[in-house]
Amino acid sequence: MTIHWWGDPGTRPTFEGVVNTFVTGARGTSAHYVAEAGRVACLVDPDDRAWACGDGIGCRSGGNDCSISIECNPRQSDGDYETIAELVRDLRSTYGDLPLYPHKHWSNMACPGTYDLARIDRLARGLPAGKPAPAAPPAVPKPAPAPAPKPSVPQIAVDGSCGPATVKRWQQVMGTQADGVVSGQVEPDGRTYARPSLASCTYGGYGSQLIRAVQARLGLARDGLLGPATIRAIQAHLGVVQDGSFGPATVRALQARLNQGTF
Ligand SMILES: [Zn+2]
Repeated sequence: MTIHWWGDPGTRPTFEGVVNTFVTGARGTSAHYVAEAGRVACLVDPDDRAWACGDGIGCRSGGNDCSISIECNPRQSDGDYETIAELVRDLRSTYGDLPLYPHKHWSNMACPGTYDLARIDRLARGLPAGKPAPAAPPAVPKPAPAPAPKPSVPQIAVDGSCGPATVKRWQQVMGTQADGVVSGQVEPDGRTYARPSLASCTYGGYGSQLIRAVQARLGLARDGLLGPATIRAIQAHLGVVQDGSFGPATVRALQARLNQGTF
């Protein structure tokens, strides 16, 4: 980027006057931008060549071919510097980290006088990237995010019937194969195996992995059969009456426990 000043500060040239001079073509010169405090006019697309730098020294093709020219108000007010720096920052966001050159880098002339290019560069680098926010609203503290909900435990109906859903959840909690069936049980005879609420089981007498896991947890012999001794131990574990019958009250207590994700 090539920095110019647009004339002798003693003549107090105006923004409009400079823009008009360029656009009439009377001087046979042009510039990409004319800038002063608070306003910038783009006269030539920065992708095109402007005729601002003379025939060129210091660059084989001359500054016209390889730089973007910015004509700056020669009064050099703080506001002028700030606006020019914003323009430089925006051009860098598009074209990369272009260096700043004074016009006299390219041609044997005084332009841009006493303009402080290092100051422009410092201001441009100190500004936040991107366009400035039009009018930043006062910072409002963000509300603290709601605490993350605990992983929810899938709930089963507390209905007192130990059907497939309850058995499956029980198996999941105990870490055994979750097929929803208490397998390998002994046919109920109405006395020794009083399990009126066990609604999902198969028979065969070889025992159930789930019941074996329960028996292991409760310190019982692991035959895998939901018999009276095992039922009483489960009832003690659940805090219900130990009648040795796997009835609705026992199953409701089991379901409520499983709904807490545990046994
Ligand atoms: Zn110049």
